[in-house]
Order: sequence, then structure tokens, then C-alpha cells
Amino acid sequence: MRYRKLGKTGMEAGVIGLGAEHLDGKDYGVVKETFDAALEHGVNMVDVFMPGSDIRQKIGRAVKGSRDKFILQGHIGSTDIDEQYDVSRDLATNKKYFESLMRDLGTDYIDFGMLFLIDSEESFEKVFHTAGIARYAEDLKKSGVIRGIGASSHDPVIAKKIVETGLVDLLMFSVNPAFDMVPASVNILNYLGEDFDRGSMLAIDKKRMELYKTCEKLDIPITVMKTLAAGKLLSAEHTPFSKPLTVAQCIHYALTRPAVASVLIGCQSRREVEEAVRYLDADPASLDYTEAIRGMNKEFKGSCVYCNHCLPCPAGIDIAAVNKYLDIALLDESAAQKGVGRHYAELSSHGSDCIGCGSCETKCPFSVAVIENMKKAADIFGV
Ligand code: SF4
Ligand code: SF4
Repeated sequence: MRYRKLGKTGMEAGVIGLGAEHLDGKDYGVVKETFDAALEHGVNMVDVFMPGSDIRQKIGRAVKGSRDKFILQGHIGSTDIDEQYDVSRDLATNKKYFESLMRDLGTDYIDFGMLFLIDSEESFEKVFHTAGIARYAEDLKKSGVIRGIGASSHDPVIAKKIVETGLVDLLMFSVNPAFDMVPASVNILNYLGEDFDRGSMLAIDKKRMELYKTCEKLDIPITVMKTLAAGKLLSAEHTPFSKPLTVAQCIHYALTRPAVASVLIGCQSRREVEEAVRYLDADPASLDYTEAIRGMNKEFKGSCVYCNHCLPCPAGIDIAAVNKYLDIALLDESAAQKGVGRHYAELSSHGSDCIGCGSCETKCPFSVAVIENMKKAADIFGV
């Protein structure tokens, strides 16, 4: 497993994580084999949003004796009142379900207490201002019941507001190449119920990119949900692209977005965990997702998607990384003096090393002005 730092929390997550939702309703044996496989392969980041006691207790049994090997995301606001999965913004209900989560799991701490599914202004207001839910999460953190505060969202504008509150340590967000092209104003959850509307997909949505860059700038890690868009990206029939992507390509796309730390794959067997971690051994050429997505629209032109299709570079420059840090610095010049500047400095080669050979520009499917970007990066970062 490869691990990435979870921002300032001191924790490190495997780049492949486990979304446990598909285990809901399964026999204990299935839950146990899935968690055993996760443990064996170093998959430590796990999301448990399900409100039902049955699945929570099965997970608690499955991780007994190895609880400290997992980083659990437990959600504040996920409920099953009337035996239906629901979101609650009532503080007393939130407390009741969060306390029962710990009882069911048989643990006295949760790594990330996640403010659940904040997709609208109204939810944001309730959670952060009127309902006292964010304050509850802060109290849990102060008392050590949770190690960090997280939040989950599908809306890039609201998610940016959330990370800018300064209160959260981690964001769970839906990331895949199709959603990234859906305008921020559209509810992407509708895209899971219908076929993708190719007409509304123009280019990487600026608001989504702004969110990822803001997270990177603020050192707030992203854990990814909906990596495969509910399997639609893998299906020749449903994909909006010129051809289906593979699981590994979808994982690779998400892991190459700024700030992304771990991609949570919804597995429901040992075999599916093993399939997901196969990404780690994949031939780099097989991870190239550009061919499938580049036919979408020419508005892609000029925007780096951080795919590194343009390598090798004779000067040893990680072109995607330089472009990524440059984009963040262009969004906020002060970022160059902070964490982003440090990450840039740690690269083995920099913009100033570019010899202008142009081989990258010939290979880039998106006509990015790489040489110009290398010059800009050298100017902004000073090397
Ligand atoms: S410059 Fe082009 S090929 Fe290179 S990482 Fe960016 S988009 Fe990909
Ligand atoms: S133009 Fe610069 S960045 Fe591009 S391959 Fe050549 S040396 Fe590398």
C-alpha cells in the first residue's frame, strides 16, 4: 500500500480505502472476509456512514482486535428513523446515532466525526450555525472522542465554504472525471439515476477545481466517494466518454487531483478488495485515462488535468505536479509562500530546469502550454 498524510492530523491513509456501504445487509462472513482482506493489503481508511445497528455491529466484530489498524470515518447526522436511511439536522438525534455508532462498533473513539452530507446552504447553516451540530463535533474532538472533524458533500461551492470555516480536518467529496465536468450548479446525485447528459458536460468545472486547489492550499485532505460513478464509467452503455474507463483508471484520476489522499472503493468481498488494490501494481500505461476523456470537448484545451501523459521529461520534471502547484499559486499568490511552496520545493526538478525541448507539448492531449507554465512556476516559486 502507498500512504498519504492526512493533512495536519498526524494520520496517514492508504491511497486505496474502503467504502463499507455495500456490506449493509450482508452476512457476517462477508463483512469479515472483506475487512480481513483490507487489513492484509494495508487498506486502513474506512467509511461507515450506514446508520443501521446490524451492519455497524458486524463491522465492530470484524475489526475487533485490530481496531487501531483502521481509520474510521463515522457520520454525524446519518440516521434510519422509521427504518429508512435519512439525514437529520436535529442535535439530539445526531447525538443518539453517533453514540450508538460507537456502542455498535465496540469502540470508544472514532477517527473522523463526519458532518454528514452538507449539499445545500440550508444544511450548511443548520450544521455550522443554528443547530449546534458543528459545536457538538468540536466538543467531541476536544474530549478525544473523535480525533478529527470531517465533512461530506457533493456540492463544490458548499464544500469550499465548509473547508474555509477552518473547522474541518478532512473532506469527503465525490470525484470522478464525469462529475468533474458537470457544472457546479447541477446536482450530481441526479446523474446516478439517469444517463449522463453529454450536452451539459463541457470541460473540467472551474468550481470543482477551485475546491481541490483550496483544499490543497489549506492542507485539508480529501477522501473520495463515487469514484466509479456507481459503475457507470465502467459501462460501455452508460459512460459519457468515448469508451469505458477501467477501475484502475478511475482510481488514478481521483488520486491525481490536488489534495486527494484516499479513494474509498465500495467493496463487498475479499475479491473486490483485491481487485481495487491491484491498482498499486498496474502498468503505468494502463492507467492513462486521457484517451477516453479527451474526445469530450475542445474546451478542455489548455487546462492541465495532471495526467502526466506528457512524460518522460529529459529534465526529470514531474510536469503534472508543477502544473498543479502552479494552478494553486495562481488561485492565491500567498499560497506560494506557504505549504504549496514547500511541496514545490521538495520536487526533485523544478520549472527552472526546463530546457524548452517541447517534447511534452507534442504529447499533451490537451494542448497545455507546458513551457510557458514552467517559466511561470519558476517565476512564482523562485526556482
Ligand atoms: S501537461 Fe498535458 S499531458 Fe501533461 S499532465 Fe498536463 S494535461 Fe497531462
Ligand atoms: S519542454 Fe521542458 S518540461 Fe517539457 S519535456 Fe522539455 S524539458 Fe520537460
